[in-house]
Amino acid sequence: MELRKEVCKANKLLPETGLVTMHSGNASGYDPESQMLVIKPSGMDYDKITPESLVQVHVPTGEILGSSLRPSVDLPHHLFLYRNIPGLKGIIHTHSNYATAFAAVGKSVPLVLTAIADEFGAEIPCAPYVDNEGEHIGEAILKYRNRSPAILMGNHGVFAWGDSPKSALKAAVMTEDVAKTVWLAMQIGSPKPIPAEEAEKWYDRYHNRYGQ
Ligand SMILES: [Zn+2]
Repeated sequence: MELRKEVCKANKLLPETGLVTMHSGNASGYDPESQMLVIKPSGMDYDKITPESLVQVHVPTGEILGSSLRPSVDLPHHLFLYRNIPGLKGIIHTHSNYATAFAAVGKSVPLVLTAIADEFGAEIPCAPYVDNEGEHIGEAILKYRNRSPAILMGNHGVFAWGDSPKSALKAAVMTEDVAKTVWLAMQIGSPKPIPAEEAEKWYDRYHNRYGQ
């Protein structure tokens, strides 16, 4: 039930944080012990989602358990990522505006802010366009991702992930936030890259010494 509550909250925060409009995004969470994920039902209004309404799926087989609702159409991509990236416990997909603008022109979000070095430790890469058949999206994410917990899918949007639904949401929110800042910077000049060794310092501090 705890996972259902967390995933419910992450889904509701998608419109509240301005990352999605209408039904254009989804959040899931994974419990490695039971090998179950829970994900947003397809096409359901975010304000109608309850922990109980989330669709439970057995990750190894893809079997839907105990729900009459259909899962998000993006379920195959969530399944593929949980099966192929160890330690993943939360995934968010959005078409958030600034990040998706970069995806529309096939550009990565360059490493030009300390906030990008902190959270992502690399540029946020942009994978080339793929359709949403089968495992195309999942395979492109595996092929083009770097250590950043988010990737842009060309002409499409954002996938972000983490070790909980909450950390996946944070990666999705930060992706949009830094994409917006970089977009603004591009209006007044050429953003300056942060050298790799400098970026490493920020990443290390943030991941190993920051917080309580
Ligand atoms: Zn999408």
